Amino acid sequence: MNLFFRLFLLSCVLLVSVFANEPTNKVTLQLKWFSSFQFAGYYMALEKGFYKEAGLDVRILERNAQKNNIMQVVNGEATYGVADSALLLYRADGKPVKVMASIFQHSPLIFIAHKESNVFSPYELKGKRVSYQQGIDDAPLLAMIHEVGIKESDYTYVPLDFSSQAFIDRKVDVMSGYLSDQPFLMAEKHIPITIINPLNYGIDFYGDNLFATDQELSSNPERAKRFLQASIRGWHYALEHEDEAIAVLRSKYGARNSVEHLKHEAEVTRNMMVPTLVDIGYTNTERFYRIGEIYRTLGKVNQSDMDRALKDFIWNPNEKQKVDVRYLYAALAMLLLIIIFTLLLAITKRKLQSMVARKTKALVEQQSMTDKYVIIISVDLKNNVTEASTAFCNLFGYTKLELMGKKIETVYNLDTSSSFYKEIMSQLEKHKKWSGELKNSDKQKNVYWLFANIEAIFDEAGIVKGYRAIQQNITDKKFAQKLSITDTLTELYNRSYLNTKLHAEVNLFHRYNTPMGLIMIDIDYFKDVNDTYGHLVGDSVLVEFAEILRVNVRLTDIVGRWGGEEFVIICPSNTLNQVAELAEKLRVLVESYTFNTVGKKTASFGVGTIHNSEDEMELIRRIDDALYEAKRLGRNRVVKA
Ligand code: GH3
Ligand code: MG
Ligand code: MG
Repeated sequence: MNLFFRLFLLSCVLLVSVFANEPTNKVTLQLKWFSSFQFAGYYMALEKGFYKEAGLDVRILERNAQKNNIMQVVNGEATYGVADSALLLYRADGKPVKVMASIFQHSPLIFIAHKESNVFSPYELKGKRVSYQQGIDDAPLLAMIHEVGIKESDYTYVPLDFSSQAFIDRKVDVMSGYLSDQPFLMAEKHIPITIINPLNYGIDFYGDNLFATDQELSSNPERAKRFLQASIRGWHYALEHEDEAIAVLRSKYGARNSVEHLKHEAEVTRNMMVPTLVDIGYTNTERFYRIGEIYRTLGKVNQSDMDRALKDFIWNPNEKQKVDVRYLYAALAMLLLIIIFTLLLAITKRKLQSMVARKTKALVEQQSMTDKYVIIISVDLKNNVTEASTAFCNLFGYTKLELMGKKIETVYNLDTSSSFYKEIMSQLEKHKKWSGELKNSDKQKNVYWLFANIEAIFDEAGIVKGYRAIQQNITDKKFAQKLSITDTLTELYNRSYLNTKLHAEVNLFHRYNTPMGLIMIDIDYFKDVNDTYGHLVGDSVLVEFAEILRVNVRLTDIVGRWGGEEFVIICPSNTLNQVAELAEKLRVLVESYTFNTVGKKTASFGVGTIHNSEDEMELIRRIDDALYEAKRLGRNRVVKA
């Protein structure tokens, strides 16, 4: 016993010395702006005690206009911070910052223009006085301007005043702002404005990201994980209890805006977060590569710095941490303690039995955890369901009772006569396993994407008696992939995807001389739609127009939204006559179509094919000129370049 006692003391000393160094629970979150619905999730995590439950004492700091909020985190003045995609530039510049979660899937940064200044799209910025914050926030706006070929020397830059006064006093024509904020303020002041949103020109940046330094994330990963989880819980709460969140923001956390304004902000926040489609906080690495690419083309960073920055830019809370010596000591001390107690316990049989009982319970608990969190379904050889985990039932909206013994086809949208199904079955017969992506919909017909690992189940004699599928829900990832290449309004390809494809096609032409045609389309007098029926009707016309194009081109053609009410079709292997024919067919279809609410509309077309020694920019310019000519000649026509 004497030995036990000495060992016990040693372990205690070790443990105390190790954990004397443990991180404190006091952390701070530095916001990028002032208290408003934009940060409701964090405030509600605080208000509802989610941070406290996670063992954290959190202080939320509003923006200090005299300081750089990202540098405040880098310098250790705050533990965590909120910042937009510009974070990537800081990392490229050697600042050790990492994204913990992307809260806003889109950036709310837009331009607003005085209605009377006749700026409807980035094209009209020429000769105007344009105000924004240079350097930090401007990337999506500059990228949009750059995309349409306007140079910074084409307009007069005016530094941004944060009060919007210069805009109100009409000392500037165009000002950057937040979709959630400035449009509402201007409406309150009865100042008519036009919104120019980079999203409509294929520029899709992440908005607010939660971030911390490499140092913080590698030394206190557990604390960071708890902070992140509690914050996401806070966001769920805030979105589900919008009115409560607004009331609390106003009464306790210094939000200065009116209830109506905050409600509007909540709606925009929801649009930026798309919580029904993407898990809150989900970050897609691919999208940051695209954002990095845009920064590079804007000359904000060079390739090698960007490549370095993108490596490890997104924090993986589950990655193995470097072994910390402190934890080795702790493990040693724990081991000693366990040895002592195990020996002591082994002395009496009763205690031993109780330990066995506990272990059994843990095993049962582990099984029930699997049932709860892993999406599992099994069938026998006749395709009757023999097992469905609770996680499966929860996802698809069935009870276990409803599923047991039912044919699998009634749960999955499986067409057993399809070649896809036959391919899976033949793989299963040959190799006893199959893995891949499956699309399925739940009882309410919501669509899910699953990654399934299917394996044969054997009876005692080693004969296959059925199949078991363990699945992962990859719907959000699928959606995020789609988000980065498609336009959110029309669901056609976006401009950056069109650029990538165009580049590839032009290369093919120069290498193998395969012809390639291009069509540029612009809806005639579209401004009238917005002016007469409002923006929402304008949007629905764009959606209907996009659909006409989508269903009337060949499978090999690539249709996308170039920006605003302009569309582009890339037609691989097409001659000039072929593209002109396609354009003429589309022109007639548009002319004869009746749009909801607005009735008849027409469109003008510029068409052409790639020439020798021409790059894609020159090709686009030539076809754009043809389109312009079609407008000049009276619209509703096709002009060949
Ligand atoms: P035309 O092309 O025949 O010369 O006339 P237009 O009226 O179509 O001319 P313009 O290209 O100047 O106007 C395009 C308008 O499209 C201006 C802008 O407000 C509107 N617009 C751009 N993007 C969107 C959008 O996403 N939704 C809506 N509703 N309108 C948009
Ligand atoms: Mg236009
Ligand atoms: Mg037009």
